Amino acid sequence: MPELPEVETVVRQLRQKVLEKKVVNVEVFDPKVVDTRLQQLAPFKFKNITRRGKSIIASLDNDNYLIIQLRMTGHFYYVPKLPSSDTHNEHLAAVFHFTDKSILTHNSIRRFGKIQLATKKEVDEYVSKLGPEPLEMTSSEFISSLQKTPSAVIKSKLLEQDCIAGIGNIYAQEALYHAKILPSKKINQISESQLTKLHKELQSVLLKSIEHNGSTVSNYTHIAGKGEFQNFLAVYQKDKCPKSHKIRKVQIGGRSTYYCKDCQKS
Ligand SMILES: [Zn+2]
Repeated sequence: MPELPEVETVVRQLRQKVLEKKVVNVEVFDPKVVDTRLQQLAPFKFKNITRRGKSIIASLDNDNYLIIQLRMTGHFYYVPKLPSSDTHNEHLAAVFHFTDKSILTHNSIRRFGKIQLATKKEVDEYVSKLGPEPLEMTSSEFISSLQKTPSAVIKSKLLEQDCIAGIGNIYAQEALYHAKILPSKKINQISESQLTKLHKELQSVLLKSIEHNGSTVSNYTHIAGKGEFQNFLAVYQKDKCPKSHKIRKVQIGGRSTYYCKDCQKS
């Protein structure tokens, strides 16, 4: 599932490709994934495209917004000129046609994602349920956010979007590895200095992943291809940690969790 770095990568690319371009027509092929009201909306332009947590928020020049969740298998593809052969495959959910004949397609293999039309008020309500952005939090904000639930398990807490937005299974585990914290620890068993270290390592791993266009571990692709940060992962789906210790895999809160018993002792 795309997490903060993967969604941020897609947002930056969408901005480059489609901002201020005029959409003349939208075709919706999968109403389960894409709001069919988009078909009546053209012409419009994408005024701004931003990320909040794992969601993409697009503002249009007609006061409407799109809330876009890629979830497991949502992909955007930008095609400079519509080829004569079909771009229609079974996973095609929608096509945005621009005045210069370029197109943006949205494909959704497992159909968990959504593109919803929304008002400003609906966007505000949606984002108000999300916790703060991890790259914008100070370490004291980060620590106090976690310490609100002292008996929670650290790894599970990092995944709760109303606590901190944008973290999923990959980056929670990577940050805990680099901070040398056992993922099964309760928050009240972790010292403030360790939590400060976790904040620093979380920010660092997210920024490094953004630099490498995110991680492609199952089928995430950004607009121009695959991410490369999977080559830099320390524990997630690994057999050995960077120090060649054996990695263990356990279930925490129903999610597979990889850690190194030798490196993560605190
Ligand atoms: Zn190790």
